[in-house]
Amino acid sequence: GPENILSIRQQYFFPATSHFYKNPPQIVKGFMQYLYDQDNKKYTDFYGGVSVMNCGHSNPEIINETAEQLKDLQHTTTLFFTQPMALLAEELAKILPGDIKRTFFCVTGSEANEGAMALARLHTKKNGFIALNGGLHGRTHLTLSVTGIPMWRLDDNLMKDNIFFIDRPYSPDESYEKAMEKSLEQLKKVLEEHGNNIAAMILEPIQGNGGIIMYPLNYLKEVKRLLEKHGVLLIIDEVQTGYGRTGKMFCIEHYDVVPDIIVTAKALGNGIPISTFSTTDEIAQSFNKPSASTFGGNPVAATTALNVLKYIKSHDLISRAEKLGKILKQQLEEIPSPYIQEVRGIGLMIGVQIHAVDENQPSHAITDVILEEMKDLGFLIGKNGLDRDVLAFQPPLVVTEEDINEVVAALKKVLAKLS
Ligand code: PMP
Repeated sequence: GPENILSIRQQYFFPATSHFYKNPPQIVKGFMQYLYDQDNKKYTDFYGGVSVMNCGHSNPEIINETAEQLKDLQHTTTLFFTQPMALLAEELAKILPGDIKRTFFCVTGSEANEGAMALARLHTKKNGFIALNGGLHGRTHLTLSVTGIPMWRLDDNLMKDNIFFIDRPYSPDESYEKAMEKSLEQLKKVLEEHGNNIAAMILEPIQGNGGIIMYPLNYLKEVKRLLEKHGVLLIIDEVQTGYGRTGKMFCIEHYDVVPDIIVTAKALGNGIPISTFSTTDEIAQSFNKPSASTFGGNPVAATTALNVLKYIKSHDLISRAEKLGKILKQQLEEIPSPYIQEVRGIGLMIGVQIHAVDENQPSHAITDVILEEMKDLGFLIGKNGLDRDVLAFQPPLVVTEEDINEVVAALKKVLAKLS
């Protein structure tokens, strides 16, 4: 039973392996936007395994092909030729921004970011990085070193030399315009003083773990312009935002900027691990030593990804995310609750900043209460933010308007009970 599972976890996992909920359900089955627990209680999944399940759980149009591939050929490594990986690289070249056309396949977001940063070093022959406070890029040494959320930074011995953090263009205490001005001033200063040693700036087009923070639309154009002046590359981490999530294939399209290197993961495999970093012909030439990721783009993952791309297109998931995201955001904004301080985001990546009414400050305690009660009502939502005080709505893109009406009604009920 679930108690047994909980005690097994407590005995054999690292204590750091946290989970949501005081009384966590044991999830045993998933279908499209729904999950079911050990008692067959149904939940609508509004978190999608952190933006992974864009095409829904165990989507038959995808997993049947995955199963066929598993039976035919499981694995070879990139050192042998297989068809799915080649076809996937070709498909990606068609949808990636600008003249980005070459892809290196890996398994996790961290690994792909790490590879992207290595590529930037090789290409520029410089070794430093700029990153944003509030950003998150993984849990390897280098990706943790550019992660700007203190609670995720494991220890104090991360790399510090030639790693420069600047503020994100967001602050709860001032306008986006003002925060953007400050951020760009900091960037200019770092570039003027250290540009000769900096290979790249890495950032998410919307900070996911940082609390669903989108930047003013002209921010990244200005960032790119400043970086170019100093021969610094722009790495865009689309691990959480890619593949339709924000109402565009890639979130960077909202900003009308073409990065030098783009990193993707999560939703590409819809639950089967696969990640990528992609770049132009020219930059790819700099990765000039033999390199392979054992499992990266293996036939099972690549076949799945090909069918994910096909499904996104044939079911119009991108415009669906745009349309349903507007409906969700508007409905959340209309909830009359003193606990909601701000509703943020775009497409089906929406964050709700939760405030303690008494203290008038962000509250992770209240966020946890809301999460727990929403779970009891049959809705699994996520949380993120610097202090995990933001409700995160990142459902499979196959959710319906009815699901959205229901989750908002449930949230209204929970918030009303709080006051
Ligand atoms: N980048 C971003 C933006 C992420 O959200 C995450 C994971 N949440 C990562 C990188 C790391 O990905 P992974 O856990 O697959 O290594």
